[in-house]
Order: sequence, then C-alpha cells, then structure tokens
Amino acid sequence: MSLEVTFLGTSGAVPTPERNPIGILLRREGERFLFDVGEGIQRQMMTFTTGFALDHVVITHLHGDHYYGLPGLLETLEFNGRTRALKIHVPARRTRRLARFIEVTVGETEFPILINGLSPGDIAVDQDDYHLEAVAVDHDTEAIGVALVEAARPGRFDRQRALDLGVPEGPMFGRLQDGESVELGDGTVVTSDEVLGPPRPGRRVVYSGDTRPTPSVEAIATEADLLIHEATFGDDRADRAAETGHSTATQAGKLARDAGVRKLALVHTSSRYAGQRGRLRKEAETIFEGETILPADGDTIDVTFRDE
Ligand SMILES: [Zn+2]
Ligand SMILES: [Zn+2]
Repeated sequence: MSLEVTFLGTSGAVPTPERNPIGILLRREGERFLFDVGEGIQRQMMTFTTGFALDHVVITHLHGDHYYGLPGLLETLEFNGRTRALKIHVPARRTRRLARFIEVTVGETEFPILINGLSPGDIAVDQDDYHLEAVAVDHDTEAIGVALVEAARPGRFDRQRALDLGVPEGPMFGRLQDGESVELGDGTVVTSDEVLGPPRPGRRVVYSGDTRPTPSVEAIATEADLLIHEATFGDDRADRAAETGHSTATQAGKLARDAGVRKLALVHTSSRYAGQRGRLRKEAETIFEGETILPADGDTIDVTFRDE
C-alpha cells in the first residue's frame, strides 16, 4: 500500500521565483488528497505530472495563500470533463464564505462540489483502514490542521510456526492471516493468535497548516511517520511568529521531538529566507534528532511503515 507526499508549493504568504504558495498532495494507493490550494497549484500539478484525479481537498483556513488556487484548479477540472463529485473540507464556520467565493469566481460546474465544514476532532473521511481527521490549531483566524491516520495492521504471519503446528500450506494460511481459527484433520484447532505476531502500527501523516506551536498538533503527531509543520520564521523573528499566529523552525523541531516524530518536513517558509532557508533546517535540527527536511516544490517522498 503506497503512501506518497508531493510538495506542490512550500512558500508562506507570498511566492518566490522558486516556490509556489502552499499545497501538499497525498496519494494513498489510488486515492488523492490535496491539503491547501495556493495560487498556481493546478500548474504545479501539471509540472510535476501528478494527475488531477482528486478525491478530497482540505483547505485549512481562508487566508489567500491557502485557497486562491481553488478557482483555477476547479476550472481545470471542469475543462478536463470531470463529472465525479469533489469534496472540499474547510473549517466549519467558513463553509458559506467558501461557497460564495466559488460561486463568484467559478460559478456552476458540471461536477458537484460538496463543501464539508470541519471542527477540530471531526473525522472527514472514515474508512476501515484509515481516517482523515481535523486537528485544532492556534492561528489568527478560524483554522484546522489535518491528519491521515492508518489503522493498525495484523501482526506478521509466522509461516514456520504454522507448519510446525501441523497446518498444511494452502487456504488455511489465508484464514489464519485474516484472524480466523482453523481445524486440522485430527480435530486440533489452531487459532490466529498462535501464528500471528503483535499488531503492527499503521502510518500517520500530520499537516499543521498555519499555527503557533500547539499541544493538539503535538498530541496527534505522537509517533507520526511524517509531520509537515509550518516554519514561517526563524529564531530571529520569534516575536513576529507569536504575533501573527505562526511557528519558528525551532518550535517545529521542539514539537517534533516531544511528539517522537520520525520525519519532520518544514514548509510555509517566509520569502524573507529565500536563499538562506538552510538556516531554518539547522535551527530545527539543533533540537530534533530525527530527520528534518526542507522540501523543494516538486519533491515527493514515500512514507514507509516503521517496520519496513
Ligand atoms: Zn499561510
Ligand atoms: Zn494563515
């Protein structure tokens, strides 16, 4: 089961010649989720050949750098002949404003646009093997973060142990792997517990959106495989970060450390650090010992299982 993240835009507030405003594409096997739609995102999707088969769009908040790309994206989907509904998730108190924005900029579309309001803790998508959850954040407007959380997977099947217990190779193996018990020819019952290891954790990807460092983000990012956290500023502008509802790279690093995150991706970096973004990574790395990355637009990373 593949899980990939492509950074379509990594700049905060205003773009730079190298960086588009924010947009993060998550692909889990055949499903595609777009987190935030900065201006020009549809062109980034073309440039990085991600395809447009989106299933869910999450807009963390209605600051221009997070949703001005929506009209262009919707027009492109329309132009491509989309007929399938598109679900757009926004903070609960922003549904009407977003609907009006779409009505004014795009108007009617051939495909249904379903706007879904989310409050922190709400489950936006609920499937057997994963869910998408809205996270409370602390910004200077109504905003959410978002987390994709996979369910635990069954433990590893101990083939040799099954053979030792007398289970013949064949369909009984599959039933044991599915958690069922099987009865052997001599009447012995073998249960799945005897041949399966402990459940293995699924993967967890958290995107903070715009926020000051927040306990709710830290909580949901506990042992996350990938935390995509904003790092709008460096230590030199810590006051400005607090004032404007943003984080510094050091704060993102501290949160990643405290949450026991595996990998930290710093995004939404201010254009003032163009050409010297490396210092933001260094600041995070002074605190966080896991891997810190400063993705460029177009970078794609695989999110692997911990036990892989
Ligand atoms: Zn922003
Ligand atoms: Zn913002």
